[in-house]
Amino acid sequence: MTSIFDIFKIGIGPSSSHTVGPMVAAGRFLAWLDQEGLTGEITRIVCHLYGSLAHTGKGHRTDLAVVLGLAGETPTKIDPDLASCLFNTVARQKSLLLAGHVTVALDPATDIVFDRDTPSPGHPNAMRIIAYSESGKVVGEKLYYSIGGGSVVSEEEYVGGAAGAALHNISGPYVFSTADQLLALCGSENKSIAELVLANEAALGPLQRIETKIDNIHSAMMDCIDKGLSSEGVLPGRLGVRRRAKGLIRAATPNPNHNFRYPHQFMDRVSAYAIAVNEQNASGGRIVTAPTNGAAGVIPAVVRYFAESCSDASQIGVREFLLTATAFGAIIKSNASLSGAEVGCQGEVGSASAMAAAGLCAVLGGTPQQVENAAEIALEHHLGMTCDPIGGLVQIPCIERNSMGALKAINAASLALAGDGQHIVSFDAVVETMRQTGLDLQTKYKETSQGGLAVTVVEC
Ligand code: SF4
Repeated sequence: MTSIFDIFKIGIGPSSSHTVGPMVAAGRFLAWLDQEGLTGEITRIVCHLYGSLAHTGKGHRTDLAVVLGLAGETPTKIDPDLASCLFNTVARQKSLLLAGHVTVALDPATDIVFDRDTPSPGHPNAMRIIAYSESGKVVGEKLYYSIGGGSVVSEEEYVGGAAGAALHNISGPYVFSTADQLLALCGSENKSIAELVLANEAALGPLQRIETKIDNIHSAMMDCIDKGLSSEGVLPGRLGVRRRAKGLIRAATPNPNHNFRYPHQFMDRVSAYAIAVNEQNASGGRIVTAPTNGAAGVIPAVVRYFAESCSDASQIGVREFLLTATAFGAIIKSNASLSGAEVGCQGEVGSASAMAAAGLCAVLGGTPQQVENAAEIALEHHLGMTCDPIGGLVQIPCIERNSMGALKAINAASLALAGDGQHIVSFDAVVETMRQTGLDLQTKYKETSQGGLAVTVVEC
């Protein structure tokens, strides 16, 4: 089963597959070199990026991510405020302190190659890292795929058909890969979805430690919202996008001098939370992939809405929310994809919305059938959504799209709670439809910035 800690990972912006994944891949390359005893022979490193990484990697800071990973930094530990500084030092010196103890030549401008001509050898997000000796001989070479949500597999793992360790990283007592199986388990074990997921996690370690880790993820999400709500200015990149979360939350906060408010204005608060997260993401800040960086605002926004606006909300409820959401993210990851480069934005914001809808429905008292219905409604109404970020930046349409995903999630949970859990289209059918639709989508709509808004909107 996919662990909650594989679905929700603390990292940095702006992209899980283009920033977090490549950093993880570079770290895996370092570990492999070390394990093979090759590190001492290396004098130069080169990294080739293919497919979507080549097309939108510049805007997603893939070059920075590779440098950070080779410098021994990890997405969880790197201080986002120091990341650019470290990269600029490497770019100036044209060398890097590999694994903290061997200096190798690496000029990011020429040694990190955005190869848009060579087709990606497998998954659309591919990268090949090559280490050379003084004489120019290849000391070590590895091909990695960044398969979405910050998960990485090597060529061997990918060809082995497993995409393996990254997809199925815990083995608990309750095995399911479809929503049908999940509902059957809920019935036979008389447990909620969150209880099943927690039992699987508990197979790995003490319950208290798992709950603390979930609480840390929640705290990181809320910190990200707070930081985004208090930040102003223009986001990095040539689009000149102004941050708006701070102004939005100010306008959405009730003014005692004006007691009339339209009911729909509650939506602005939720939007402000989602936008705050994605503005932080776009600026390279600390982020929780949920389940990706581009879609990182949806779940925190709905969790915050639950915690602030729903009676009986509690920390236990927040854990139940995130555990329930995990089950649906895991099912999508197993049977379709969470990656915009594979299936378009339906797999990112659509998945996040389905997960949030499931989580909210569960904590508001929904039965497993109603929870599955909520996830199904949210995902169904994201089917076909393309990924076409303007300028390759995770800003337009990504930031605003997260507010739409969050509001759809609340709507979906509410619709499901109004029903009895009986419905015609199953979650599994929608996931399969998303997979097939993703296959049919042309490459230009899958995080390559070669179609859609990315070409119809003229950049100034
Ligand atoms: S359009 Fe959607 S899938 Fe594409 S980068 Fe933005 S959030 Fe991710």
